Amino acid sequence: MNRQAVFVFDAEINQKKEGETYVSEERNIIQIRVNKEIARNDINRFRTSIGGMVLDVVAYIVHILNEALKRRASDIHFEPHSKGLRIRQRVDGFLVEVAQVKPNDASAIISRLKIMGNLDIGEKRMPQDGTLTFTQLEGSYDVRISTIPTIHGEKVVLRFIKNRPEVNSLNDLGMSSTQLEQTERLLNRASGLVIVTGPTGSGKTTTLYAMLKYLNVVENNIITLEDPVELQIEGINQVQIHPKAGLTFAKSLRAALRQDPDIIMIGEIRDRETADIAIGAALTGHLVFTTLHTSDGASVVTRLLDMNIEAYRVAAALSGIIAQRLVRLVCKHCKGDRCSSCGNIGYAGRTGAFEVIAVDEPFKELIVDHVPLYQLRKYLRSQGIPSLKEAIMRKVDEGLTTQNECMRVINDEEEKILEV
Ligand SMILES: [Zn+2]
Repeated sequence: MNRQAVFVFDAEINQKKEGETYVSEERNIIQIRVNKEIARNDINRFRTSIGGMVLDVVAYIVHILNEALKRRASDIHFEPHSKGLRIRQRVDGFLVEVAQVKPNDASAIISRLKIMGNLDIGEKRMPQDGTLTFTQLEGSYDVRISTIPTIHGEKVVLRFIKNRPEVNSLNDLGMSSTQLEQTERLLNRASGLVIVTGPTGSGKTTTLYAMLKYLNVVENNIITLEDPVELQIEGINQVQIHPKAGLTFAKSLRAALRQDPDIIMIGEIRDRETADIAIGAALTGHLVFTTLHTSDGASVVTRLLDMNIEAYRVAAALSGIIAQRLVRLVCKHCKGDRCSSCGNIGYAGRTGAFEVIAVDEPFKELIVDHVPLYQLRKYLRSQGIPSLKEAIMRKVDEGLTTQNECMRVINDEEEKILEV
């Protein structure tokens, strides 16, 4: 047996004082000198082989990050479990397993990640977070790192902050030409309330930013109230909301209205007060756009009425509703058969499916009359406005996705709601 002193690093040893000698029989290690640099030795022992190349832990993590960037992943998860470490990445909203790592190598990876993020490698029992910059030939990526102690060890998540597509233009969102025209008309009006709606992860933020990009001309004073500010756009006054510090949507919206705005974007309407001020702003000559969480376009009306906003004010202010979902695009190379280019997923990238409603006079009358939801939907279909389900299914006809993917998106909902 090699009787050489070995540095190891775990919670037990971490409680000892620096420089203290610690003996462990269980680990078959004779003597351990407690050293806060110990984790670096774990790191030094790490070796793995990928495609015939032997990688140390630094190279291995670079490899994992590069793979994630290639797949346009948004997050990478390093998850300790009873038999080691699982590495997964989130691509187009779905987690995909990338690797399983032996327990011995797991601590090296976690420690190396913490060093990259400038976190305290000795602290394993408290959550930590920070940022790091990953520099490659083609550019730098800002990465947010966070740790949380689980029963099997520290879990680390890396989130790419700037590995997002550039701000999309309106015509890159996946709207039909009619929908695009209607949306531009809504945005060209001097006032009114435009609401983008859909569940979490349906692409609402992407649509809001595309609208901002469209409206971002020198004649417009644009103020946004966001939580969080996800992308910075030159020429726009973006305000980060801090509800915990007392800077709520409602409070910042009142302040924004004193700033001579033409256009106000509110990240999300979460309460009656914000909804009420937003409607007031739209009625006093401002173009306001925001988001709500509802299943389809017509439900926006009932949601606002449920918030106890007077129907006549909703009717007067509301100029447009855009409901949406995201559908995964079938891989161009393998058409869904799974290939190396799509990482054996069969899909690569996503597009939006939309229901775009330009609120007209008869629809406003239906709002004032408090008609039930199904009647609002019936009116929209009678006007030839395709439902979300139709918009989703159209993506198959256009060869952009598969029947299965559409069924997945639709089955996620109460199917009836989308159909009517
Ligand atoms: Zn493919």
